Amino acid sequence: MAAQGERQVQFKLILAGNGGTGKTTFVKRHLTGEFEKNYVATLGAEVHPLTFHTSRGPIKFDVWDTAGQEKFGGLRDGYYIQAQGAIIMFDLTSRVSYQNVPNWYKDLVRVCEHIPTVLCGNKVDVKDREVKAKSIVFHRKKNLQYYDISAKRNHNIEKPFLWLARKLIGDPSVELVAMPALAPPEVVMDPALAAQYEHDLEVAQMTPLPDEDGDL
Ligand code: GDP
Ligand code: MG
Repeated sequence: MAAQGERQVQFKLILAGNGGTGKTTFVKRHLTGEFEKNYVATLGAEVHPLTFHTSRGPIKFDVWDTAGQEKFGGLRDGYYIQAQGAIIMFDLTSRVSYQNVPNWYKDLVRVCEHIPTVLCGNKVDVKDREVKAKSIVFHRKKNLQYYDISAKRNHNIEKPFLWLARKLIGDPSVELVAMPALAPPEVVMDPALAAQYEHDLEVAQMTPLPDEDGDL
């Protein structure tokens, strides 16, 4: 809880990305949001209020998730309106979901212009991934942050929120002072595989971008 007289720091954060990439699973890992969520019937959206305790005090993200409309095309403008941050998710086991990232980004920018945005490649726990580290370049062209995550394994699950908190507060030194309450991991990931992926990603990020003009 914010101390009396302290301004409540609160931001609207939207989740976007193809159906099936794990957006709902990701937001539901956070137990407090799951208990306190609200349904916006006109937009078919669920809003999960998630509070993070940071070195600059509590920060609350109202995280907007769809009820599945993204499976049938784009989302209504009302979903994006007044968003202050965004997470665009794709599925590392689905090339198509990565190929659609530029479309989700275009929709977001059309309504919100350039708000702090994190790209997340989810399901890094799965052994047979289709999207390799070296082909994940969209964020570098658009100055977004990127994380490999696993919603099921709670891997890097707080990283997108911390990055967004730093951007939105305007202080790159902000740290989390307590981990949020999370549902227990549903899968375990082979530590050797996790280390390998982290290494691949580091190498890929240092490789110069190809010259071609395409978005991907
Ligand atoms: P949404 O349509 O983007 O909201 O995706 P959902 O959250 O409904 O998840 C789609 C499917 O992916 C479900 O079967 C989830 O159990 C599965 N899933 C979500 N996150 C992960 C993950 O991190 N790892 C794995 N292996 N499966 C996941
Ligand atoms: Mg969903």
